[in-house]
Amino acid sequence: MDNQNSFVCPICGNTDIHSIGILNGKPYCRRCISFKGEEVEHKPSYPKKASIHLEYELSPEQKELSDKLVENYKKGIDSLVFAVCGSGKTEIVVNAISYAIKNGDKVGFAIPRRDVVIELFYRLKQIFKGNKVISVYGGHTSKLDGDLICLTTHQLFRYEKYFNLLIIDEIDAFPFKDNPVLEAFYKRSNKGVTIMLSATPSKKTIEKFSKNKDGFLRLNKRFHGKPLPVPYYKKRRSILIYYDLIKECKKFQSRSKQIMIFTPTISICERVYKFLSLFVKHGNFVHSKRDGRADIIGDFKNKKYQYLVTTAVLERGVTIKDLQVIIFRADHPIYDSAALVQISGRVGRKKDAPTGEIVYLCREITSSIVESIEEIKKCNEVL
Ligand SMILES: [Zn+2]
Repeated sequence: MDNQNSFVCPICGNTDIHSIGILNGKPYCRRCISFKGEEVEHKPSYPKKASIHLEYELSPEQKELSDKLVENYKKGIDSLVFAVCGSGKTEIVVNAISYAIKNGDKVGFAIPRRDVVIELFYRLKQIFKGNKVISVYGGHTSKLDGDLICLTTHQLFRYEKYFNLLIIDEIDAFPFKDNPVLEAFYKRSNKGVTIMLSATPSKKTIEKFSKNKDGFLRLNKRFHGKPLPVPYYKKRRSILIYYDLIKECKKFQSRSKQIMIFTPTISICERVYKFLSLFVKHGNFVHSKRDGRADIIGDFKNKKYQYLVTTAVLERGVTIKDLQVIIFRADHPIYDSAALVQISGRVGRKKDAPTGEIVYLCREITSSIVESIEEIKKCNEVL
C-alpha cells in the first residue's frame, strides 16, 4: 500500500491512488496504461536549411503576428494565438518553425485529431519542401524523428523532454479538452517554448497566457479581410426537419453550390444520406468507420459530388472553395458552441469565394446555438 501512496506515474504524473494498480508487487498507472510503445531516440540535431513555400503572401496582420511569434520563441516566451476560424493560423507559425529548424531545434506540431494531423501533414510538407516532415498517429508510428513532426496529442508520450518548439492546435477540441493525461503528455514532451493556437480558447487558457502580455496574441481578421458568414437556424419540431433539409439542399443545388451536411452521429449520418439520396442526386457520405473515405473526400474536392453527408470527422482542417454548410440537428448535445463555430468556419475560406451560407436545422434552440451565433458576430465586430 505504501508503494501506491508514494507512486508518481513517470509518464502522466498521476498520483491518484484510485487509478494506481499493483502488478507483481510493483505499482503501475492505470490512467495511461493504454499508451505503450516505442519512444523516440534522442539524437543530437544540427542546424538545417528551412525555406518556406507559401501559395500567397502573409497579410500585414499575419506578418505582424508571425514576427512576434519568432521574437517570443527567441526570448523563451509561450504564446497563445487567439485567431478566428479562417484567419490562417497555420501560416502564422511557419516562420517560427523555420527559425527553429535553422537553429537545430526540435519542432513538433500536435493536434488532437488524427484526420486533421494527416491534412496538416500534407500542407506542411508542401510548405517545407526541403525538409523531413513526418506524421505520427495511431497505427502510423514507424518513423518518429524528423525536422518537423506532425502528431496527434496522444502520441506525445513517445517524446520525453524532446521539443524545443511545440505547437498545439485546437486545444479546445475533444479529446484534448479537459483531459489530464494528454495535458501531462504535452508538459512532459516540451522542454522549450509552446505556441497554442485556438479559435475558441477557454477562459482558463486565456488567463494563463495573459499573465505575460507578449504571450497573448489576437488575430481577428480572416486572411482575406472579409467577415465570417453568420449562421442562421430553422426550427422544426418533428420529422419536417427532413423536409427542410431537402429544401435547403435543392436551393444550394439550383445555385450550383457544393454542400457539406454535418450530422451528430454515425447512425444519423447514414440515415440522413439514405433518405436524402432518394430526393437529391450526386451525393455521398463519410464518417470515421467508412472505408475509402479519403477517396470520397478527394472526389468531393474534385467536384464529383454535389453534397457530402458527414460526421464531425470533417469539422476541422478541410478547406473547400465556395462551400455551403448545413448542420442537421444542430441542437444535438454533441454540439457545444465551440464545435458549431468551428464547423461554421468551413465556409467562405477562399479569397475568391469569401462568402457562403451556414444553416442550422434543429428541433429546438439550444444555448450552444445562440452562443455560437453571438460568438461569430462578435468576431466580426472587431474587423
Ligand atoms: Zn500514468
